[in-house]
This record gives sequence, structure tokens and C-alpha cells, in this order.
Amino acid sequence: MNIYPKLILDALEKVRYPGTGKNIVEMGMIEDDMRIEGNKVSFSILFEKQNDPFMKSLVKAGETAILTYAGENIDIKGNINIKTKPSPLPAPLDLLPGVKNIIAISSGKGGVGKSTVAVNLAVALAKSGYKVGLLDADIFGPSIPKMFHAEEAKPYMERIGERELIAPIEQYGVKILSIGFFINKKDALVWRGTMASNALKQLITDAHWGELDYFLLDLPPGTSDIHLTLVQTLAVTGVVIVTTPQEVALADARKGISMFTGKKINVPVIGLVENMAWFTPAELPENKYYIFGKDGGKQLSEEMHIPLLGQIPIVGNICEGSDSGAPVALNDSVTGEIFRLLAEKMVEQVEIRNKNLSVTKRVVAITKN
Ligand code: ADP
Repeated sequence: MNIYPKLILDALEKVRYPGTGKNIVEMGMIEDDMRIEGNKVSFSILFEKQNDPFMKSLVKAGETAILTYAGENIDIKGNINIKTKPSPLPAPLDLLPGVKNIIAISSGKGGVGKSTVAVNLAVALAKSGYKVGLLDADIFGPSIPKMFHAEEAKPYMERIGERELIAPIEQYGVKILSIGFFINKKDALVWRGTMASNALKQLITDAHWGELDYFLLDLPPGTSDIHLTLVQTLAVTGVVIVTTPQEVALADARKGISMFTGKKINVPVIGLVENMAWFTPAELPENKYYIFGKDGGKQLSEEMHIPLLGQIPIVGNICEGSDSGAPVALNDSVTGEIFRLLAEKMVEQVEIRNKNLSVTKRVVAITKN
């Protein structure tokens, strides 16, 4: 039997890439490294992404098409190589060159006030004169637009040099982006992990964040692929963990801390925030009621040798501020002051870390010389 490349390519034209209506030949996926020796045929298929979900099934379909349409005696099984394009993402450090510090805000459990802390931290930092960005990476429950009274906002595209970039919304001196600006909640809920991660990557790399002192990421609760993708995509400076003093929340916070400091992710924990630390009724300002237990977060920070950035009480106006889209940190009230101090403590810890890091870098440089 006479086997020649066109015979093989004609057979491969029967294989369609799912969802595109196109076959793998017209999509340019067949590399020109085809070798034919006797009845043995080998070549490579090029995939855009390393985690293409159709990789295996397309190789199998390619084999079947060749055996069916080009000749059943062709030795093709196991001879189709897989090639992938190198990842287009630049190294993490080069992605956001204008951003000085990237801080992820995380919690083990939902509902502990992670987004509330992220929003008020961002506003308090901006009030103190820092350039601040906030990305709502809590893709399955984006709440930042509401908390910033920006639910109706529609970010527009901006031409920066050669590229069209998403312009973040600016509110209360903070640049914000959320997947909530682009899709409705119901759609986000059915997204798979990779779709969510890709959408987030786009909000980071295809947006015009510009110069920032602090870029805060409001992560989804728990531990997921999204956490891994984000810290692999970006050079995260450190993580702030939010917990309540309850034992169940502390157990999950502990897990979160271990994940971030573990080998796979290896990001420093800047500090812990104990939210809902006590309740003080407006009419009895001296009284503190430890509804979820006393000092649970403080003890966890001591146990894990992590700085305690602050203890935040349960106060009605924190909740009202979030609901009405006017974060309490905007005011010079007693509660506003709590968040100002929290931001100050975080900056202090970040600066200590950066200073230690630059000393380490200098030592490494001296050792190299
Ligand atoms: P998470 O992001 O962890 O899911 P949220 O920030 O959405 O949690 O907070 C959950 C609810 O608790 C919201 O209604 C929020 O307004 C409220 N909340 C959070 N922290 C406090 C606090 N310190 N005092 C009063 N209400 C709070």
C-alpha cells in the first residue's frame, strides 16, 4: 500500500475540534514533522494549552480516522505526539510592573467577613494616601460591586499603546474590578475551576491597573485551584487571613495558613485579622459580649507565629456600610478608626517583610560577587 502525507491529512480532516466546527487540519494543529516509513506513520498535534481537555480524545480520534479512511494496516497507534505552545504568560514579576505590593485576602470559611475586611482595608489605605487596586476574585459570590455602590458600573476598554485594556472602575479612590461587572451571579455559579481561573487571569493581565502601592485580591473562601492559579500567575507579596474566633472558623483558617505557607504555594502570611471578635451594643459601649468565643484569632496568631493585625468587633454600621455601598472606613467614626489602624498595621508588616527581603537579596548579591 502506498502511504503519502495527503492521504493522512485527508483522513485527519474528518476530526473536528469540539465546539469550533473546524477540523484539526484547517486549525493548523498538524505539525509538519510527519514521517512515513513503510506502513509506520508518525507526526505531532499542536495544542494551544497544556491542559487542553480534548487532548487525549483528539489523539484517539486521529488514530481512528487514519485507520478508517487511510488504511487499516497503518501503524499509527501510539505514534501521534502531543505538542503544546509555550505559555504566553510572562514571568509573574513582569506581569504588573507598576504594582508594588500584591496582598491576597483569604479566609478558610465563607461568611467570616473577608470581603468586608478587604473593602474597608482598601478604602482605609486609599484614605491614607496610597494608590490602591482591589480585585474581586471571589468569583462564585462577587460582592465588591455592591459594597462599593457600583453594581451598575460597566468597565470600558481603553487603548494603551498597542493593547486594548479593561479600565477598572474608580470608587472612593480605589480602582476595582469584579467578575460581577461582566456576568450575572447565576452564570458564575456553574463555571468550572479552569474557566473561573482564566476569567480572573484576564482581569489581572488585560486590565489597566497602572501604578499601585497596594493591589488587594479578595479570594474565594477555602482552598481551591483558583488560589493556586493566582499565586502562580502573580508574584503575591503576602496573604492576610480573616477568621472569626469560633473553633470551626479557626480550624479552617489553620488549614488555609498551612496551604499558603506549604511548598506548593509558598507565600508568606502577612497577618491575621480576627473579625467579629466581640459585640458591643450602642447603648452600652463599655460592654463586650464574646459571642463567638474570646481571643480565638489572637491565640491562633500566637500558636502559628503570625502577627495579629487587629481584632474587629461586630458593629451594626459595618454591616450597614457594606449593604448600602458606603464602607464604614470612609468615615472618621470609631469604627472607621479601627480599619485605619488595621491598614496601618498591615503596611507596617509588609514594609518589615520587604525590608528583610531586600536585605536577603543584597546578601545573595554580595555572595554571588
Ligand atoms: P465573606 O466575604 O467572608 O463571605 P462578608 O464580608 O460578605 O463575608 O460578610 C458576611 C456578612 O457579615 C455581611 O453581611 C457583612 O456585612 C457582615 N459583617 C462582616 N463583618 C462584620 C462586623 N465586624 N460587624 C458587623 N457585620 C459584619
